[in-house]
Amino acid sequence: MSEPRHLHRAWADISLSALKNNISIIKKLNSPDTEIMAVVKADAYGHGYEKIVNCLEKECGIKYFAVSNIDEAVEVRLCCPDAEILILGYTPPEYAEDLLRYNIIQGIVSAEYAKELCSCISGKLRCHIKIDTGMGRIGLRHETPEQCAEEIAEICRLEKLSAEGIYTHFAVADSDDPDNIAYTDKQEKFITDTYDCLVKSGIQLPHVHFMNSAATCYRNSSKSTLSRAGIIIYGLHPDISLDIPDGLMPVMSLKAVISHVKTIEAGSCVSYGRTFRAEGEMRVATVTIGYADGYSRQLSSKGEILVHGRRCRIVGRVCMDQLMIDVTDIPDVCPGDIATLIGTDGNETITADELASIYGTIGYEVVCGISKRVPRIYTDKGEKI
Ligand SMILES: *Cc1c(COP(=O)(O)O)cnc(C)c1O
Repeated sequence: MSEPRHLHRAWADISLSALKNNISIIKKLNSPDTEIMAVVKADAYGHGYEKIVNCLEKECGIKYFAVSNIDEAVEVRLCCPDAEILILGYTPPEYAEDLLRYNIIQGIVSAEYAKELCSCISGKLRCHIKIDTGMGRIGLRHETPEQCAEEIAEICRLEKLSAEGIYTHFAVADSDDPDNIAYTDKQEKFITDTYDCLVKSGIQLPHVHFMNSAATCYRNSSKSTLSRAGIIIYGLHPDISLDIPDGLMPVMSLKAVISHVKTIEAGSCVSYGRTFRAEGEMRVATVTIGYADGYSRQLSSKGEILVHGRRCRIVGRVCMDQLMIDVTDIPDVCPGDIATLIGTDGNETITADELASIYGTIGYEVVCGISKRVPRIYTDKGEKI
């Protein structure tokens, strides 16, 4: 058997060329004072953190990474001994010592939490302080920047903490609705005012950051020392309704093979629940991917799949490991042919964003949801690595 085993079922192609291309585009969006902090939480949005982080650090010169928790932070640390790694979310105090051991920067959500962490550690903990300016998720909440700066000053006075920055997260930077733009303006003003208050009181932190992907694209500001870019690194839209900068390319494609092709008669049913019934004679192909691979069952009878460069509709329900498509109009389809669920085949492209919009979610959830069972196959300049 000369072909690799993965080609016998379902796999995700991850293009490091696309990743590098996207980083170079994002660098051009940012001002010279802003560095990219690559958001690689959730296994690099389902792309597989190890190869992604290595490529970002060694080939793209990325120095800052953001993750969601201590386990992810340690994984990234083992790949990159010198990187700056920020945990955006919560670390239970009992793991605080690991933050020191692995030289991880912790996001601090309140003075109380800061003190709790300090009571659990022997050395000095590096941190960025999170301000809730309107996301309503985590962070210091205050009426005015002055009050906020006071709590930050209190945190900065803790002996075992080394505060290196403040940050906030936008809730609607991916919207062109005037009301939402005003909301984001207020969020941005609050954090930059807070930073100015700190400077006035003699606290000059190296970092203040508030740009996510959407802000990086639509309201890039040189005041943000870091651009915490997530989804655009992977070439997807923060919001499908707004264009992303020209040239960004999806990094992930999703493929599977055709295992069986048959002709069915008018009136025949396909798949569970008999939701599909053939109106006339038709050709049906079975594809070796299903909802256990992260290809949503909500795409039953709705999604399309590329075969031989043409769009084929899914017929009937998506099963756990397989699904069926209509190949009546596509000549010469046979077992072993490749079906493209996300990606390009010939002149046709299906993006994760397109799939997401069919069943009312976002591209983020589609790529993060591609399950562990699906091997990630990495390519660079079209060559497998
Ligand atoms: C996930 C996350 C990001 C990245 O968001 P994108 O929309 O993918 O760019 C940035 N900052 C915080 C705090 C996050 O949780």
